[in-house]
Amino acid sequence: MISRRRHEHEMKIGVLALQGDFDAHRRRLEELGAEVVLVKKPEQLDEIDGLVIPGGESGTFLKLLGDAGFEKLRQFVRMKPTLGTCAGAILLASEVENPKQIGLGAIDMCIRRNAYGRQIDSSIREGKFLSLGNGDKDLPLEMVFIRAPKIERVGAGVEVIATEGSDPVAVRQGRAMAATFHPELSEDTRVHRAFLDMARDALVDKLRGIFKGGPSLSDELIRQRREEKDRF
Ligand code: GLN
Repeated sequence: MISRRRHEHEMKIGVLALQGDFDAHRRRLEELGAEVVLVKKPEQLDEIDGLVIPGGESGTFLKLLGDAGFEKLRQFVRMKPTLGTCAGAILLASEVENPKQIGLGAIDMCIRRNAYGRQIDSSIREGKFLSLGNGDKDLPLEMVFIRAPKIERVGAGVEVIATEGSDPVAVRQGRAMAATFHPELSEDTRVHRAFLDMARDALVDKLRGIFKGGPSLSDELIRQRREEKDRF
């Protein structure tokens, strides 16, 4: 555990702290050993290796970001690992309905805001966290939905990583990951761990780029280092 903590400390993860339940994400990421920065100003995006966009109200996020903040964030999510939950998932989408709203376009999907209607606008349900081809079984996952959106369409390049009934509720494309529920409100840490794994992989890729052409930091060596660290 100690070496894992040290390992995660190589990464600085930002949590967008303009509005919404950013503090629960901060606590969860810190529990998992990440160094967390609360992001309140666009220039802070330059200092971090990954970002969580929390739940809240996506329309309010857009207002608080303003045009310049939105543009800076749009550039960030194209390059660096980002996890968006609920309102954060809405922000990451390429298409937003009910009402129509601009999205960052990091994930090729159409998402419908407040899609569960008034009667069941919030609920805790059991869904499935998919095995993602690593040989494990799809396992149950508690999901807290709060005025949640629904993913209505996903593009061909989008990987579904969790489902509830027949609906995709967590997806990933490139370095962007989105969940329509609130993993920070359940005890299960798998979603945040999957995000930190993705952020760590991105950092390894960056290092690989830096050392390209260098003497001995081959892909194999990096893989071995990761395996070694993951064992502890
Ligand atoms: N209903 C909110 C929206 O449309 C999202 C709710 C949430 O983040 N819990 O932005």
